[in-house]
Amino acid sequence: ERIITSEQTGEDYSLDNNLRPKEFSDYIGQEKVKTNLEIFIKAAVERAEALDHVLLYGPPGLGKTTLSHIIAEQMGVNIHVTSGPAIERPGDLAAILTNLEERDVLFIDEIHRLNRSVEEILYPAMEDYTIDIVVGKGPSARSIRLDLAPFTLVGATTRVGSLSSPLRDRFGVVNRLDFYNQEELCEIISRSASILGIEISEDGAKKLANSSRGTPRIANRLLKRARDYAQVKADNIITTEVADKALEMLEVDSYGLDEIDRRLMKTIFKKFDGGPVGLDTLAASISEESETIEDVYEPFLLQLGFLNRTPRGRVLTPAGIRYLGYDPLAKDSD
Ligand code: ADP
Repeated sequence: ERIITSEQTGEDYSLDNNLRPKEFSDYIGQEKVKTNLEIFIKAAVERAEALDHVLLYGPPGLGKTTLSHIIAEQMGVNIHVTSGPAIERPGDLAAILTNLEERDVLFIDEIHRLNRSVEEILYPAMEDYTIDIVVGKGPSARSIRLDLAPFTLVGATTRVGSLSSPLRDRFGVVNRLDFYNQEELCEIISRSASILGIEISEDGAKKLANSSRGTPRIANRLLKRARDYAQVKADNIITTEVADKALEMLEVDSYGLDEIDRRLMKTIFKKFDGGPVGLDTLAASISEESETIEDVYEPFLLQLGFLNRTPRGRVLTPAGIRYLGYDPLAKDSD
């Protein structure tokens, strides 16, 4: 399994849960999003109303699930967690919705993957807190309207562009989560280290932060692997050297890039002359899924400025070419 994928892997499940901040004060970074939400939550609590529906979007591992838990906690309500692909039929969603209590939070991860017939149940539910369900079959079938408790839908997605506009328009609060900076990642690593009882030097934390692709989930994962290394080889303390060695062993460089990123970039450079190359063509040439490339690998390469998306496809930037060890100006002679 890829160490620096930002997607949740089996191994992350308990790590994610153990290290998940429980309140805004533990939730590092994303200041604008936090400030907004805190105000909206306070106002809703004062009016004893459900919070407006919230859409959170951004690459995996940046803290969308964590935020939804904090929202419920601050609202003083229960959270019900599900995901787009898990809700197969309209009846499944109806069952979830009718079980919600006053002001509860319903968290739907990967909400862009809801199927159409399920999504249509959500519109009146979000707008008027009602659903229409069909009872009976054939000529005797009729539709009855059910009232729901006022609730808050928190939707999370890695691809906001794939949301239908009727769904997107029904969210009162829309927030994008950004990659974390070095300092914030260091803070997250230090916090996680103390929860896990790991000793780490400041420089050691910086090293790991540097290679975390701006992503808390990856920062925590690197920390855990560095701990293993420190335990076996280095007296249980993650020093700069230990962090370096651990990253080297994991084949992650100081940009947070690994063999797959380099293969992707090299393919664009060598096979497609630096681009542009269409996403599907690129995906086929490195045997990866287009969706994974687009949601998981690319956002960070874009952030680094190594790659660009153009209407005609993906292109390497001069910085990306330099990263690969080539001279961008000599591109054609290679
Ligand atoms: P997403 O839902 O966006 O994929 P998660 O909310 O599951 O991401 O976050 C992954 C892990 O990263 C969490 O379990 C938590 O430990 C850590 N994390 C995410 N955001 C933050 C943050 N702002 N501060 C501290 N830790 C965070």
